[in-house]
Amino acid sequence: MRKIFIILALFGFCAAKAQQNLPVLGEGYQDTPLIPGTQWHVHDNRRPYPPVVKPGAFVSIPAPADAIVLFDGTNMDKWCKSDGSPSGWRIVDGYMEAVPKQGSLRTKDSFGSCQLHVEWASPVGVTSKGQSRGNSGVIIQGMYEIQVLDNYGNTTYADGQAASIYGQYPPLVNVCRPQGEWQSYDIIFNAPKFADDGKLVKPAYITVFHNGVLVQNHREVFGPTGHKTIGKYNKHGKRPLSLQDHGNPTRYKYIWIRELED
Ligand code: MG
Repeated sequence: MRKIFIILALFGFCAAKAQQNLPVLGEGYQDTPLIPGTQWHVHDNRRPYPPVVKPGAFVSIPAPADAIVLFDGTNMDKWCKSDGSPSGWRIVDGYMEAVPKQGSLRTKDSFGSCQLHVEWASPVGVTSKGQSRGNSGVIIQGMYEIQVLDNYGNTTYADGQAASIYGQYPPLVNVCRPQGEWQSYDIIFNAPKFADDGKLVKPAYITVFHNGVLVQNHREVFGPTGHKTIGKYNKHGKRPLSLQDHGNPTRYKYIWIRELED
């Protein structure tokens, strides 16, 4: 009888949390720095999950004439490993796939403020949970990560799910598609500005559309993104775009970038 009562109480607790969109405490932390202007710690497991919204049909946006196509499914000429050596990722059927332990990729060229279009898909058949399920990342200037993760029916700390500005802002809504289905990010990045003496004059700002839906609305970035931390700004100029190897075979199909005037 007592056991039944405990099970019912637990069920009631979980149902109440789900109704409020609050996580049932799972993956996450509370011993990390506070995120400026919020009551939440970095990767706080109490932070509410964004509501799930089913996106419309996938649309691939062809690169406009003034864009640089960074990847079109055929070759990795514009990419290399972080040390400049040839990419260890593989090309399969018109997309590239992260090869675990081959390291992250970066572009050979450097970029400042930009508009960026990225098409990606989560690996199929992965049953691991949380941050271990299809983890990769679009890391602008190699410092500011827009998380790539399989959050279709998979929860993790809110500021670390797909389309989060990692460790800083959860997406406004969760518009993930199932494993293997193509998804898009359209990102507007305003690079940070620094004075000659290295002082930050203007922080970075990021806007993201995930599968055509606004998920980050001109967010002020607090510094370089990181695990359990928020980095400090250090003066920098244009830097390469990076795609993260987090040990999962995430796929990328089509990537283009337009540099923006600051
Ligand atoms: Mg990642």
